[in-house]
Amino acid sequence: MLLYNSLTHLREEFKSNTPGKVKMYTCGPTVYHFAHIGNLRTYIMEDILDKYLRYSGYEVTRVMNITDVGHLSSDADTGEDKMLKGARREHKTVMEIAKYYTDAFFADCAKLNIKTPEIVEPATNCIPEFIHLVETLLEKDYAYIAGGNVYFDTSKLKEYYVFNRHDADDLMVGARDGVEADDNKRNKTDFVLWFTKSKFEDQELKWDSPWGIGYPGWHIECSGISIKHLGEDLDIHCGGIDNAFPHHTNEIAQSEAYLGHKWCNYWFHVLHLNTDDGKMSKSKGEFLTVSLLEEKGYDPMVYRLFCLQSHYRRSLVFSWENLDNAAAAYRKLITRIAGVKDEGELDEAGMEKFRAAFHDALGNDLNSSLGITVLYNVLKSDLNGHTKLALMDEFDQVLSLNLTAAARKMNEEAAKKAAEAAIVAPEDQFIVDLIAARTAAKKAKNFAEADRIRDELKAQGITLIDTPQGVKWSRD
Ligand code: AMP
Ligand code: ZN
Repeated sequence: MLLYNSLTHLREEFKSNTPGKVKMYTCGPTVYHFAHIGNLRTYIMEDILDKYLRYSGYEVTRVMNITDVGHLSSDADTGEDKMLKGARREHKTVMEIAKYYTDAFFADCAKLNIKTPEIVEPATNCIPEFIHLVETLLEKDYAYIAGGNVYFDTSKLKEYYVFNRHDADDLMVGARDGVEADDNKRNKTDFVLWFTKSKFEDQELKWDSPWGIGYPGWHIECSGISIKHLGEDLDIHCGGIDNAFPHHTNEIAQSEAYLGHKWCNYWFHVLHLNTDDGKMSKSKGEFLTVSLLEEKGYDPMVYRLFCLQSHYRRSLVFSWENLDNAAAAYRKLITRIAGVKDEGELDEAGMEKFRAAFHDALGNDLNSSLGITVLYNVLKSDLNGHTKLALMDEFDQVLSLNLTAAARKMNEEAAKKAAEAAIVAPEDQFIVDLIAARTAAKKAKNFAEADRIRDELKAQGITLIDTPQGVKWSRD
């Protein structure tokens, strides 16, 4: 498989450290609010990567953190804690907020067929691991204490801006909200590993540490959780492109300083979903969620298809018009599948050609939109219906668009409608109406009227039969 690696800026042949096995780490959500559909674009594309690796025969172990402490409103270690802000907004405790939005996140993922990683770990579960990491970094002289906080000393590294080595413009090295100078820092790029002092003293969650009561920085949590569950080496680390700097840059700095060797081989970054008026952001307040799409009548699968129709390394513009186009494309695809009759023997040889085409698409840096084209090519082909449906199910192990299930549902609904229509042909509607009027008359004890209706129908050759299931009729 060819995979673009943000570290080298090249599409590289993917090779895992252990043949047949992949260790994958995903930056998880900061659970102070609902995930917006931009966040979910990133998780959908990571899900495709995970599932394509499995489809290709790898055994994947994937770990995701839940940021329930330490993510400040500015990535430059300043500002308020996002979790605390969320708790204050909703008059709840930080842990209540974390639980509520963690559950909401996984409910959204389920709607979008995003698989839950094997290991999901909240940052608050791993405080001893973070403390151990920070202690080691201090021992190795990669960290220093200033103003009560522990900082990572970026000047100790041969190279800090790892992702920008070749092309500084290639990554969104961010203009960040509310960046304030921190006089404790020896170098502008140094970052906090452990806080005991911050301007915002009302931090709800604090733990004892060798440096006093405090809480971890945001970046240390992903290094700590990854190393705890996946060990000293990692094949793929994923996240949205905004995470490349400073979050992933700092993760690499501290992990490699701690381990004394290279940590992760491939960095997979998903470009942003934007709206016409700019970046989608949780901190902006108003944002688009999966529930909102559902309220407006969109099947979450439509949003998944919308994401799969474009490449993960291109930013994607969301508009209702674009989503409507995806809805039409989804309906068309499912209608085509619904039209396939499950007939014939499985044609293994015929399947191979399309499997190869699917690998050419997904194996080429996850070209998911070309993968969708392969579906259409299968449907257009002269393979028998049974084989076509088998290929839909096989490719849907990766695409997860509910292809044959949605087609079955479409067929069932159509059959139900046809059956209903068969019961009451338009020319028989008057019979149904008269039966209803007779039932109403009987209920009102107007038996004369009930008998009159029976006779009126009889005169037209229609006999009524009262049964425990209701009134049946037959034509003479
Ligand atoms: P957060 O919950 O803010 O920590 O972000 C969760 C994930 O969503 C991270 O991998 C971010 O990089 C990613 N992300 C944030 N905003 C967007 C966006 N507009 N489009 C795509 N991914 C995003
Ligand atoms: Zn992370």
